[in-house]
Amino acid sequence: MSANEEQTFIAIKPDGVQRGLIGPIISRFENRGFKLVAMKLTSPSQQHLETHYADLSTKPFFKGLVSYMLSGPICAMVWEGKDAVKTGRVLLGATNPLASAPGTIRGDFAIDVGRNVCHGSDSVENAKKEIALWFSPSEVLKWKSTQSAWVYE
Ligand code: GDP
Ligand code: MG
Repeated sequence: MSANEEQTFIAIKPDGVQRGLIGPIISRFENRGFKLVAMKLTSPSQQHLETHYADLSTKPFFKGLVSYMLSGPICAMVWEGKDAVKTGRVLLGATNPLASAPGTIRGDFAIDVGRNVCHGSDSVENAKKEIALWFSPSEVLKWKSTQSAWVYE
């Protein structure tokens, strides 16, 4: 995999879907130059969401987090590009929206940490695990964007 093919898992959470933020959030990634390689609107099972957030299972907010994630459809995506994982987190902003800088997704669209509209992988290793949990290999497409020569030198 070349440096420009790093992949990250981004999910618009149920509040983001309900609030009509799919378009604005996708635009941030498109405008930056990242390439969409997988996307679906999905309502995963409780077990799936508990697996997704397994590292947080001992946290006091875990039960609330899982019911929040079960409360409506989620727009699950894979975005590809140079440094996609780290830059995806920068586009998202801090976990607590009140600490997120204006110009970030959470800093522009959210207030409460338990309604922070969007998920993004926090490491390349976790991105691989999350992509494999949410998508089958055939759902993640390989395609050449005609923009790539204008985005990368
Ligand atoms: P993220 O990687 O920035 O999404 O943050 P974490 O992986 O630490 O937490 C996952 C998700 O759990 C966050 O995006 C929040 O929706 C939620 N969360 C994290 N910390 C808290 C908290 O202190 N209270 C509540 N209610 N939710 C939290
Ligand atoms: Mg996280």
